[in-house]
Amino acid sequence: MYQFDPSSHRYRDLETGRYVRQVDVARFVDEEISRSEVRLKGHARLLAQGKIDIPEFQTRMALSLKESHLRVAAIGAGGTRQFTPSHYGKIGAQLKKQYKFLHGFGQDLAEGKLTPEQAIRRAGSYAKSAKTSFFESEFTSRGKYDFYAKRLLDAQSRHCESCITYQRLSWTPIKNVVAPGVDCECGGRCRCRLVYQKRTYAGMRL
Ligand SMILES: [Zn+2]
Ligand SMILES: [Zn+2]
Repeated sequence: MYQFDPSSHRYRDLETGRYVRQVDVARFVDEEISRSEVRLKGHARLLAQGKIDIPEFQTRMALSLKESHLRVAAIGAGGTRQFTPSHYGKIGAQLKKQYKFLHGFGQDLAEGKLTPEQAIRRAGSYAKSAKTSFFESEFTSRGKYDFYAKRLLDAQSRHCESCITYQRLSWTPIKNVVAPGVDCECGGRCRCRLVYQKRTYAGMRL
């Protein structure tokens, strides 16, 4: 059982009394995304086997994506009870973008442009999009409590042009930081990192 403290934006494990580390929260998100990838590929497999048709495939993809975005967004918000209309607005915007891609996916399938293997791989690639809903949700929640953030590039990986311009090396009010995956060519398929600090501690290491 975890308890969430909105003002410090941390989870506490009620059994051990310890705070859950940020890396562990990120791991929960990655695990959910892996499970989602398996589910999405499963829909494409059923399609390849002729067990469902393209519209049904799109419906299942859309539903699985919605569930996955909501699940990781809940992790970012500190549980579904922390959701506000603005959380739903941000998640909705991300989903809308994915549904548009899904429409194009359906067209490519209908035109016979994809082998079953390509379709399965492409279906699985949607899973990562949920990460943006996680960041958006986390930003929305932390934004209410005067958090500042840095957005850092991973030195080991390649970045799209937008990600480079979104880098923030000094503490910046969250509302002026762009969440990874929002308005960038890589769609968040990158390793941009975020660190946070409460405004009251500005200039001080936590
Ligand atoms: Zn990018
Ligand atoms: Zn990036």
